[in-house]
Amino acid sequence: SVRSNAVNSQRVVAIANQKGGVGKTTTAVNLGASLAASGLRTLIIDLDPQGNASTGVGCHPGNRNHSSYDLMSGRFSLSESAAPTGIENLSLVSSTPDLSSADIDFSSRKDRINLLSNALRQGDSYDYVLIDCPPALGLLTVNALVAANSVLVPLQAEFYALEGLSQLLMTVRKVRQNANPTLRVEGVVMTMYDGRNNLSQQVEADARATLGELVYRSVIPRNVRISEAPSHGLPVTIYDPSSTGSRAYQAMTAEFLSRQKEMCA
Ligand code: ADP
Ligand code: MG
Repeated sequence: SVRSNAVNSQRVVAIANQKGGVGKTTTAVNLGASLAASGLRTLIIDLDPQGNASTGVGCHPGNRNHSSYDLMSGRFSLSESAAPTGIENLSLVSSTPDLSSADIDFSSRKDRINLLSNALRQGDSYDYVLIDCPPALGLLTVNALVAANSVLVPLQAEFYALEGLSQLLMTVRKVRQNANPTLRVEGVVMTMYDGRNNLSQQVEADARATLGELVYRSVIPRNVRISEAPSHGLPVTIYDPSSTGSRAYQAMTAEFLSRQKEMCA
């Protein structure tokens, strides 16, 4: 059968890195909000049981009716699971704590790695679907990789970053071989970057030497406004549009879109 992604224009991007605290959720929320602000219909799927992306776009735990768990289980369709956020053009499939047992709950299903992919087949009402992955390479992240056209990797410039990245890239290769042959690596974005720190500079240089063009020219600096924004339930691009962090994510989004164009040309 033809994958839905091949027959419609919806692009599905998994935002993944098995390390926690590297900027996955922050990137999902701010790339999502910036795409939405440029008029693109955008959906964020919160696939992390911690639910930080849901909170980050203003969806509080009491308002999470149908979640990504329900979507994967097949109990609710994509249109039933997605809800508008307070942000124009931005919708959310929220996360609920039951996601933390998804590995076990779905383990006996034959289609367990295709659950999300099958659920997303149901329609192309979005230009971009961003999947915020949990900090592990388990069933949830594998589902995201199977469902995605590409994977975007936030990389925090610290000592073990590149070793973690090679594990992730190995998982990407396995998913390509077994389930999703057209999965691409969208790119690697350096996050929480501190230009005054020698280690940050060294890791960035190593990443660029090893991965070349895959590494985005845009770099996200460490910026306090970025870390404040989630407690207001807002992307930094809305919380403080002129902050350094907001500008960095806007530049990163522009680069993302120009790379999309190159890809299609
Ligand atoms: P992950 O989803 O990979 O676990 P998060 O996006 O949640 O990582 O980021 C981890 C923490 O770091 C959060 O508290 C977030 O607000 C903060 N953070 C992320 N990016 C930045 C940044 N560029 N500057 C300052 N704080 C950041
Ligand atoms: Mg996260």
